[in-house]
Amino acid sequence: MRVLFIKKRKYAKKIFSDYTHNSLINPEDDLPDPSLLAKFRTKRLKETSLDDIIKEVVRQCVEKGIIKSNNGIAIDTTHIEANTIKKVPERIMKQLAKNIFKAMGQEEYEIPDYTQIEDHGTAKQVMKDYLENLIEQTGDENSEEVNQAVQEAQEILESDLFIEQKGIRSLVDKDARVGHKSKTQNFYGYKAEICQTTDGSLITSVTVEPGSYVDGSNFKEHLEETRKSGLTVTGVYGDKAYFRPDILNLIKEKGASAYIPVSASAYKIDEELFSYNKDSDQWFCIMGNETVKVKSKIRERNGQKRKYLDYSFGRELCRNCPHRSECMGKSKRIAKLMTISVNTPELYEYSQRAKTPEFLEEYRKRAKIEPKNAELKRFHGLDRARGYGLRSIGIQAKLTALAVNLKRIAKLVSALKGLNSYFLRCSSCCLLIIRPAWIGSDVQTV
Ligand code: SF4
Repeated sequence: MRVLFIKKRKYAKKIFSDYTHNSLINPEDDLPDPSLLAKFRTKRLKETSLDDIIKEVVRQCVEKGIIKSNNGIAIDTTHIEANTIKKVPERIMKQLAKNIFKAMGQEEYEIPDYTQIEDHGTAKQVMKDYLENLIEQTGDENSEEVNQAVQEAQEILESDLFIEQKGIRSLVDKDARVGHKSKTQNFYGYKAEICQTTDGSLITSVTVEPGSYVDGSNFKEHLEETRKSGLTVTGVYGDKAYFRPDILNLIKEKGASAYIPVSASAYKIDEELFSYNKDSDQWFCIMGNETVKVKSKIRERNGQKRKYLDYSFGRELCRNCPHRSECMGKSKRIAKLMTISVNTPELYEYSQRAKTPEFLEEYRKRAKIEPKNAELKRFHGLDRARGYGLRSIGIQAKLTALAVNLKRIAKLVSALKGLNSYFLRCSSCCLLIIRPAWIGSDVQTV
């Protein structure tokens, strides 16, 4: 297990000497003993997680009136490049074979040279066959070390994603994955999903996932963590990746408003041709024809059962309709049949709201999260992982968020006239203590 370890006395001394240079403290005051930091870390923090610290800092800000308790939250993800390069499966399989030979104590071996095979698919198959044979040859009675090397190779080979280059791409960092920045651009590493208040711009929760993470999958967790800070969430601001029925329903359930633009992939109704009447539960087409019946059905898609609604239009108007080809394409049916997801009628209502000037004005608050992402990456190194694995990158992202929050609190407090400076001094001290220490020479990873 990788943990961040601070060389206690040396680092503590540095922190406290830096602290004296801070203009907020009288240099003649007695400084805390260097052992205080170690005591704080080992005795006071105990099982406290970084999430708890983020929550507590936000909670105190709400309690002291530094930020409003009725607040909106903006949510977004940002990319973190892995601290290693991604390798092709052939190269990884070669390394796995080497590891097995090493564990067996065999120094001489011959592994196929996949670089001489032109076709990438053939090269993968050759290396896969070779590794599978090697695993078979090792037999059942092996040392613990050989068993571990064999098990690692078996686990990697078992995953279909591995051969498709969508799974493990490095033995050093097994959690990093390839993700997409756009249709043509991808990256290798992790995604940090960040939630911040729209008033005060304080980060309320952070999660880190492999690069293949689908934005919004942790939304429920973010919302719960934010609410635990004592905030009443009045609105949620996100880009169209968050336009999903589960997220919209959850926001509604919690009594908040969603300011998320409509995503064409989740909502596919052509509103120039069709409109929906909620009271009669009917769709109306451009010709004024209305649906005459609705039936629900279950379809299986990608192994999952989903509920759909079949709305049928009246036959007479459809039969000779001038918009027939535009509306029905090459369908041979007499009347139009709309097969839509059960959520579509509700999303239609939402889509209408998303066109109003009030919505568009309010949605501008989402943009506040962009400079925060830039700050985390440009000034605090969150553009690249410092360690390896999900746990390490999670610690890096959360410590960075804490440091950025404390900077922000110092700014908010200094802007508040007559507020006691004690909180500001504490914030500055904490900032020195928890600043991203992993980049310093006094920090080791063990
Ligand atoms: S084909 Fe039928 S449903 Fe489509 S526009 Fe014409 S009348 Fe309306």
